[in-house]
Amino acid sequence: MLWAIARRRSQHPTAFEKMGIRIVSLESEGVEVSSAREEVWMALSLLDQHTPMQVRRIARRIRIIFIGAIVNVGAYVHIGKICILNLRRIPKACSERDRVIAIAALLVHEATHGVFCDRGIPFLGGTATRIERICESEQTRVMERLDQVVTSVS
Ligand SMILES: [Zn+2]
Repeated sequence: MLWAIARRRSQHPTAFEKMGIRIVSLESEGVEVSSAREEVWMALSLLDQHTPMQVRRIARRIRIIFIGAIVNVGAYVHIGKICILNLRRIPKACSERDRVIAIAALLVHEATHGVFCDRGIPFLGGTATRIERICESEQTRVMERLDQVVTSVS
């Protein structure tokens, strides 16, 4: 049931546009372009419902989400506050629900990189390893939280 609500809400991305988040798909196939953007809107909707603090963090650190196979999985570019997601790396065998949860967690990971960038902490050497570990643990935390909440209601 909750999943259905998330889906419906995701049809109206204006709330996130008002927050200043734009989604640009660099995918070429017509169908994939709209479904990839929709999946990202749905991921933001899920976060908005269950961990609104994370959505505020994302809105502060990310202005544009580029979807395209130009990075391994995800990347954060501080200049321009750009997040790049390669949705092709999320297994197609996953259910739509699992894909959207994985995308939501990935957005949190990249936005966490943005927090360190804003603090002027360089992504170098041992610091890079520590930053990556923190981003990954935030990603896992959100993934587990969403997985719990969405499963228990559906
Ligand atoms: Zn990372």
